[in-house]
Amino acid sequence: MNAYQADLHIHTVASPCGQVEMIPPLIVEAARMAGLDIIAIADHNCCENAEAVLKAAEGSALRVLPGLEVQSVEGVHLLCLFDVMEPALAMQELVYSSLPDVPKAAKFAREQFVVDAEGEFVRFCEKPISLPVRMDIEQVFRQVERLGGICVPSHIDRPGTGICGVLGMMPDEPRFEAVEISANLTLESARARYPSIGGLPIIQNSDAHWLEAVGEKRTVFHLEHRSLAEIIKALRGEDGRRIENA
Ligand SMILES: [Zn+2]
Ligand SMILES: [Zn+2]
Repeated sequence: MNAYQADLHIHTVASPCGQVEMIPPLIVEAARMAGLDIIAIADHNCCENAEAVLKAAEGSALRVLPGLEVQSVEGVHLLCLFDVMEPALAMQELVYSSLPDVPKAAKFAREQFVVDAEGEFVRFCEKPISLPVRMDIEQVFRQVERLGGICVPSHIDRPGTGICGVLGMMPDEPRFEAVEISANLTLESARARYPSIGGLPIIQNSDAHWLEAVGEKRTVFHLEHRSLAEIIKALRGEDGRRIENA
C-alpha cells in the first residue's frame, strides 16, 4: 500500500473567484512543489478546465481527477469527483441544463476563463456557474452516483454554502461516503459541533482559489494505486485501504 498526499478540491480560472494564475501548468507546478500525488479540479458548476489540467500533468508524477463543485438548489456546495473526463462532462451537461437562462453577453462570463493545457485563453464560459442549479442535494448525489463518481459535501461548516451551515446538520439521506470540513475546524471540533457527522470519514482539502493555497490542506490516502475506486475503498476502510488526516 502506498501513502498518497491528496488535495481534492482546487479551482481554476473558470471559477469567477479563482485568481488569474490558476491555470493548468501553474496548478500542476504548485501541486508538485507542495508534494501532492493526487489533485482534483473542482470549479463551480463546471469542469471546463479539468481536461487541460489533466493534459498539463501528463508525463508528471501527478494524478489529476476531474470534478465539479456543484451548488444545489439549497445553495449547498457539493464536491463531485470522477475518475475520468467522460462522466465529469456528462455531469456538466446535466448541471448546465439545470442552470437558469441568462443573456449570453452577461458580464459575469468575462471572469470565467476556459484555457488550454498551456494556460492560453480559449474562450469565456458563458454559463452562470455561480448560481445554484435546480437540482436538490439528493438529486445531485444520485446523478453523480449514477455516473460512477463520488459526491462529498464541501466545507460543511461554512455558513452560506456548507451542508451543516445551511441545514444545521447532516441529513440522514443521501448516504455520503465522507464530508469535507473547512480549514477553520479541526476534526475533533467538527465532530463535536456536528454530531450528525456520526461515523462518516472527514477529509480536508485546500479549496484553493490561488496558487499559494494548493496543498495547504490535504488528506493522505493509503491505496494500492491512484484511482477513484481506490479512494472510495479507503473512505470505507476496505481491503487495507484507509485515510489519514494530515
Ligand atoms: Zn465551495
Ligand atoms: Zn470550492
